[in-house]
Amino acid sequence: MSLHTESITSLRHQLSSKAISPGDILDDLETQTKQHEPEIHAYRDLNFDFAREQVQSVDLDAPLGGIPIAIKDNINVTGQTTACASRMLENFLSPYDATVIKKLREAGAIFLGRANMDEFAMGSSCEFSAFGPTYNPWKKSDGTQLVPGGSSGGSAAAVAGDLAIAALGSDTGGSIRQPASFCGVTGLKPTYGRVSRYGLVAFASSLDQIGPLTKTVEDAALLLEVIAGEDPMENTSRPIEVPPYSKTLSGLSIQDLTIGVPKEYFIDGLDSDVEKSIQSAIQWYEKNGATLKEISLPHTESGTAVYYIIATAEASANLARFDGVRYGHRSSSAEKMIDVYSASREEGFGEEVKRRILLGTYTLSSGYYDAYYNRAQKVKYLIRQDFENAFKTCDLIITPTAPYTAFPVGDKIDDPLLMYLNDVYTIAANLSGVPAISIPAQPSSEGLPIGLQLMGPHFAEERLLQAAHAFQSAHDYHHLKPEGFNQ
Ligand code: GLN
Repeated sequence: MSLHTESITSLRHQLSSKAISPGDILDDLETQTKQHEPEIHAYRDLNFDFAREQVQSVDLDAPLGGIPIAIKDNINVTGQTTACASRMLENFLSPYDATVIKKLREAGAIFLGRANMDEFAMGSSCEFSAFGPTYNPWKKSDGTQLVPGGSSGGSAAAVAGDLAIAALGSDTGGSIRQPASFCGVTGLKPTYGRVSRYGLVAFASSLDQIGPLTKTVEDAALLLEVIAGEDPMENTSRPIEVPPYSKTLSGLSIQDLTIGVPKEYFIDGLDSDVEKSIQSAIQWYEKNGATLKEISLPHTESGTAVYYIIATAEASANLARFDGVRYGHRSSSAEKMIDVYSASREEGFGEEVKRRILLGTYTLSSGYYDAYYNRAQKVKYLIRQDFENAFKTCDLIITPTAPYTAFPVGDKIDDPLLMYLNDVYTIAANLSGVPAISIPAQPSSEGLPIGLQLMGPHFAEERLLQAAHAFQSAHDYHHLKPEGFNQ
């Protein structure tokens, strides 16, 4: 048996008919992690005893009964540490469950471990974890090791390497979709306000959303229908009914779809293999009856600049609470009160986090506020309008998820600007709040995964999932496995 390779849907069938038990799934996952986790390091912390304890009381009739799920290290699970892959929170024991965790628990999910990430979700390669990088299960043909993408790199690598059945990540500027694209899995960023952020450690509160990373679109639908919905604990979550996403996946006829292809996304800097792959997906939709049309999202070019002003500004405010007094690491060298703050923060935060705090503090400071932060807010509004206008003429938008395939470990680590440019295709969905999904498309000539991104109007996850499911049902790219991972 190789239960670790299977989807939630398939395991749930076997669990319901009592052909297997949740313990069998954990046994298979444990064997797989023993073999592969030392080289991948998908987890910041992995605890099979903790998982087995939960199995004792699990309700097997619940929708996710007995399904082990990896949780990104910035989402609170009672009894586990929420380190955000930072020395700052290394010993922070979650006193409560995030709302998404409460919902998953009620649905019978088993929490397996803490997926590694870029520290405080800041990064695009998962190299900025204070606990060491995660490696992509996919390698170049000459054996060069590749990044899994970030910041939810641990979640994506765990799913791609069959070290978890599914995972949760968070996406502020692409952190679910870009790693999904690099690792060859499905990743969904819901509409801002679709899923409660209560219990997610905030990075940029106006952009953050929690979402699933899974082996199939069907599994993403299953997870989304459990975690979505209004939450009295979180006032940006919206009172909009949650459709039974997993039951309506086949309810769309592609002939009725108009899909927009934004010309600003197919420009210089886009890898030719990625372009070919996305063009062939576009042709597939067209061949199956969809109407394809060129559209324009004119403010695309400003997206990255706007994002790195707004996200760092919000981060500098959100991370002010980690001061060595109330939360997190406290320096043992501090003698005076002021040193408690500065030494604790100096020792607790990594380089990238400090860079973001400095940038954010700068753009918010008096004299610069209008020139940077205020201006960025105005352009953010224009980007949102771009999408509103586009969705007057099309139902969905199709683009690449990332401009290239996974890059070698160490390649961009010393060049923050180059690292930030990873996010050109994913950021706009966060700035405008729309939902977006990345699914595996035709791989590169070297056999590396390429992600196809679909974006939809606010709260149109149902249509997004349907269109993604149609493509996935007709292709087997999501079944491809990295070398050495095919059993
Ligand atoms: N790569 C982006 C950043 O570094 C996005 C991160 C995210 O979505 N959490 O900010």
